[in-house]
Amino acid sequence: MKQSFYNLNFSDLETVLRQNDLNDSAASVLFNWHYKKKEKAQCTTNIAKDSLVFLQDNFDFSLPEIDTVQESNKDRSVKFLFRLKDGHKVETVLIPFHKKYSICLSSQVGCAMNCSFCFTGKQGLKRNLTTSEIVGQFLQAWLWLAKNRPGEERILNVVFMGQGEPLHNFDAVKKACEIFLSQHGTSIGFQKITISTAGYIPGLKRWSQEIPGVNLALSLHSPFEEKRNELIPINKKYPLDEVLKVVDQIPLSKKQFITYEYILIKHFNDSPDDAKKLGTILAGKRAYINLIPFNTFPESPYQCPDLDTIERFKAVLDTYKIPTLIRGTKGDDVLAACGQLNSKY
Ligand code: SAH
Repeated sequence: MKQSFYNLNFSDLETVLRQNDLNDSAASVLFNWHYKKKEKAQCTTNIAKDSLVFLQDNFDFSLPEIDTVQESNKDRSVKFLFRLKDGHKVETVLIPFHKKYSICLSSQVGCAMNCSFCFTGKQGLKRNLTTSEIVGQFLQAWLWLAKNRPGEERILNVVFMGQGEPLHNFDAVKKACEIFLSQHGTSIGFQKITISTAGYIPGLKRWSQEIPGVNLALSLHSPFEEKRNELIPINKKYPLDEVLKVVDQIPLSKKQFITYEYILIKHFNDSPDDAKKLGTILAGKRAYINLIPFNTFPESPYQCPDLDTIERFKAVLDTYKIPTLIRGTKGDDVLAACGQLNSKY
């Protein structure tokens, strides 16, 4: 079977060309057509014929197929369901802000973390996505925008907050980041890429060496180990206390901070005591807290607190001088909000 062209980062592509006695300067032309201009059909100019023939004979240029697209009437979020070659499906969400978009990418089919509050986890892990399937979500979403919302095909932020635990599929996610970062292609800056993790320590330990500069979001959800065990089962293996020690060692640039995500669940982790303990463990760190009101899904065991409770929780955090944002819920009318992605529905 042919390997996907979209599994190659820039230096892989140069190596492939060189090893086959072709001119490796074609790599920048190819990246330019495929990732910057995104007109792969046009990718025949400025490239030697022998390189083109070689690539067409040896590589697959197909992208994940769009199965369905749901557009939110409320806020113009777009949720894509992609069909992969083996029939599995994954979801991707475009989140608009002023005619520009953030893209929320999936990194696995399903997820092994089995967090009690997350719809995706209910499917279990089916398999890891390949780099081409991750990069393919981005390219297809961009092409959809160019066709359906011309002039708005600007995806400026990439967040790995869709289905899956990105650090559990580190190699493929890392290579996808390298492709997004490449100046020959999409040229997305380090600071515009965020990877969210449930606290998978083996991946966090690779961070500084392998993906330095990329933003980290940690799904914290409770400052108490017992409660966190209930929400995020891998906390039993990698307790919060140890996770925070590893996170603290990740070097940050001047303007950078770590985002701590905190889902607010009614009568579970929304009390002033929860907020105080959270404030205590994060005070003094380069932290930014994202409060996420729990999003319900079919048969969900939890509920979202009322607005007063959410604001009271934030007020406690304010006393610790930690910048805190209450995340607005985008796309919930098409089940595209956090934790609502489950390709079976
Ligand atoms: N596995 C990664 C990334 C996927 S989830 C992680 O755990 O971080 C991205 C964010 O959505 C996480 O903070 C996650 O905890 C949150 N989330 C999951 N289910 C949710 C729900 N039902 N309501 C609100 N946020 C949810």
